[in-house]
Amino acid sequence: MKQPCVFFDRDGTLNEDVGYLDRLERLVLYPDGIDAVRLLKRAGYLVAVVTNQAGVAHGLYGEETVRAIHRHIAARFEAGGAAIDGFYYCPHLVDAPVAAYRVACDCRKPLPGLIRQAERDLDVDVARSFVVGDRWRDIEMGRAVGARAVLVRTGYGRTEESRPPAGVTADAIVDNVTQATVWILREDRR
Ligand SMILES: [Mg+2]
Ligand SMILES: [Zn+2]
Repeated sequence: MKQPCVFFDRDGTLNEDVGYLDRLERLVLYPDGIDAVRLLKRAGYLVAVVTNQAGVAHGLYGEETVRAIHRHIAARFEAGGAAIDGFYYCPHLVDAPVAAYRVACDCRKPLPGLIRQAERDLDVDVARSFVVGDRWRDIEMGRAVGARAVLVRTGYGRTEESRPPAGVTADAIVDNVTQATVWILREDRR
């Protein structure tokens, strides 16, 4: 049976946005992500991470680094009783310096390709799903597929809130992933 999913952006949402996260030593998880994911899993949600990693297209680090960071995040969350169901990333850029990644893909947010990949892998009920992120492109991606979308004020969120793009609105704007989770679980009961 299809299950709803909460799609979390990574940088600026689950961990501090340090610019291009090119090595594990620079990863700083926000303190509340594990509790948030545990609550959502307990409420019956799948949880996936969806992240643009243009640093790969720029040649700043490789996909192996992205995957190693995701393995590390997965282990940290799992140890906290908050297993993440999938990690999806876009390494592409239409004008990438690294030729192998120079492609007009369908998975660079705000395009919804990462959600579509998860939908197939995890049997996601997208209409009952949510996106949580610190950039308008996260919100735009969620709204494009009929999911609800929550902007968090961590990372770039506060700046993004001050300059909303035309034609894009969030279903909620909250301080962090804890508040996003509270909002989602309240919506869920309506
Ligand atoms: Mg972000
Ligand atoms: Zn892509």
